[in-house]
Amino acid sequence: MPGYDKLIFELSSPGRIGYSLPAADVPASDPKELLPSKHLRATPPELPEVSEFDVVRHYSRLSQMNYGVDTHFYPLGSCTMKYNPKINEDMARLGGFARLHPLAPEACAQGALQLMWELGQDLAEIAGMDAVSLQPAAGAQGELAGVLMIRAYHLARGERRTKVLVPDSAHGTNPASTAIAGYRVVQLKSDSEGGADLMDLERSLDEEVAALMITVPNTLGLFEPRILEISEMCHAKGTQVYMDGANLNAILGITRPGDLGFDVCHFNLHKTFTTPHGGGGPGAGPVGVKAHLEPFLPTPVVTKTDDAYALDWKRPQSIGKLQAFWGNFGMLVRAYTYIRTMGPDGLRAVADNAILNANYLMKRLEPYYDLPHPGPCMHECVFSARRQKKLGVSAMDVAKRLLDLGFYAPSTYFPLIVEEALMIEPTETESKETLDAFCDAMIQIAREAESNPQVIHDAPQTTPVRRLDQTLAARQPDLRWRPRRA
Ligand SMILES: *Cc1c(COP(=O)(O)O)cnc(C)c1O
Repeated sequence: MPGYDKLIFELSSPGRIGYSLPAADVPASDPKELLPSKHLRATPPELPEVSEFDVVRHYSRLSQMNYGVDTHFYPLGSCTMKYNPKINEDMARLGGFARLHPLAPEACAQGALQLMWELGQDLAEIAGMDAVSLQPAAGAQGELAGVLMIRAYHLARGERRTKVLVPDSAHGTNPASTAIAGYRVVQLKSDSEGGADLMDLERSLDEEVAALMITVPNTLGLFEPRILEISEMCHAKGTQVYMDGANLNAILGITRPGDLGFDVCHFNLHKTFTTPHGGGGPGAGPVGVKAHLEPFLPTPVVTKTDDAYALDWKRPQSIGKLQAFWGNFGMLVRAYTYIRTMGPDGLRAVADNAILNANYLMKRLEPYYDLPHPGPCMHECVFSARRQKKLGVSAMDVAKRLLDLGFYAPSTYFPLIVEEALMIEPTETESKETLDAFCDAMIQIAREAESNPQVIHDAPQTTPVRRLDQTLAARQPDLRWRPRRA
C-alpha cells in the first residue's frame, strides 16, 4: 500500500489543501497593519499540504498500528490497565461538560462544580480522608502536592524538617517528587518478606523526618501487614504518613488509607477509576488529606453552601495553584461516572476480583518462573526471570517474545529490589479465558528458554518495528514505518 512508509510531511504536495472556503466577502486586511512586525513570521510555517483524504488515510493507518487496552490485554504491573467503560466517554462528551468554557462564571458552571464537589466527597469517603483536591494532573503531581502540604504543615508549626523516608521498593516518582519539594530522600530497607523493615524504620525516624511515603499494597503486590504499627511509630515522632494510592484498586471497599493511619494519599483516577491511561495523559491524581492538612490544600477549593457551589480562593495557608484552570476536568467526569455506576458494592467487587485474578495467574505461573515473595498476593505479583537468565534469557527477552505472542509486556526491572523482575497486574476486568491465554504464552516462553532460546532472542518478529535500541529510540525517534524483513 503506497504511503504506509511515509510521514505526513512526506505526503505533502505544494498547493494541495484539505478544505474549500467561499471567497471572502469582506476586504482582506494586511497583517502588517494589525500586528507588530516582531510577532509576524518571516517564512510560512512548515506544514504538510495534503487533502482531507490523505489525512484520513494516514491517521486511520496509524490507528491500526496502535496497541491499546481496547484491543489487547495489558499485564503492565502497577499501572492498572483495565477496561475503560464507554459510558464514561459518553458522559464526558455531554455538551454541558465538554463545551463549558473554563472561565465561565461560577453561576453558569453549577453542574460542573457540583460534580467536582461530589467526586471529592466520594473519594474522601472511599479513602477515609476529610478533604480532597482534584487538581493534580497525575499521581506524581498528587505526590508533590501532598509533600508540599506536609512541608507547609510543619513550617506552620515552626518545624524545619529536612528528610523524607521512602522504601527501596518505591516507584521512582516517590523520591523524585520528594526531592522536588526540597527534601532529602532517605531510603528505607525492605525485610525478607517484602514489607518495610521496622528495625530500619526505628533507626531512621527522628525529629528531622517530615514524612514517610509508602505504597499500600506495596509494589511487590503485598499488603503491608504492620502498617498500623508503622503509622503509629511515625506519628510518635511527629512524622506525617503519606500513602501512594496507585494500588488502591486492591483495597477498595476492604480498607481505607485514613483508617490505616495515613495523613495524605493520592488517587490515580486513570488507574483505579477507569479513566483512559497511556501515551502520556491526560490523567488525574487527586490528593486526599486529614483535617489537620486541609488549610494547605491547593487553591481553589470547591465549596458548597446550601445548594450553591463555588470556588474558594481565600485560603491564606494554601500551597497555591497547581494546574491551569480546574485540573483535567474530563477525567473527573469519567471517574465520577465510574464510581456512580459501580456503587459501593461494585467497588468492593473490583478489589475482590483484582485479587482473585492476580492470585490465579500467580498460581498458574509459579511452576515456571521464580517467585521471590511467594504467598497470596493482592492485585499483582512479581516474578523473577533469574532462572531463565541462567539460560541466557532475560526479563527483557521474555517481554519482547510476549509481543510476538499477542500480549503487551509486563512491567520489567521494577521494583528494583527484584532481580530480573516481571511485574504482572491482570486487573479485575479480564476474563479467565484471557488470563489463561496469557499464562499459556508465558509458559510457552519458559519452555522455549530451555529448548529454543533463539526464537526469543529474535523476537519481536510480528510488530511494526523489531528490537530497538531503546535509549536511542527515546532520544531520537525514527517514526518511519518500514516493511518487515522477509
Ligand atoms: C503509576 C504510579 C505512580 C505515579 O503515578 P502517575 O499517575 O503515573 O504520575 C506512583 N506510584 C506507583 C506505585 C505507581 O504505580
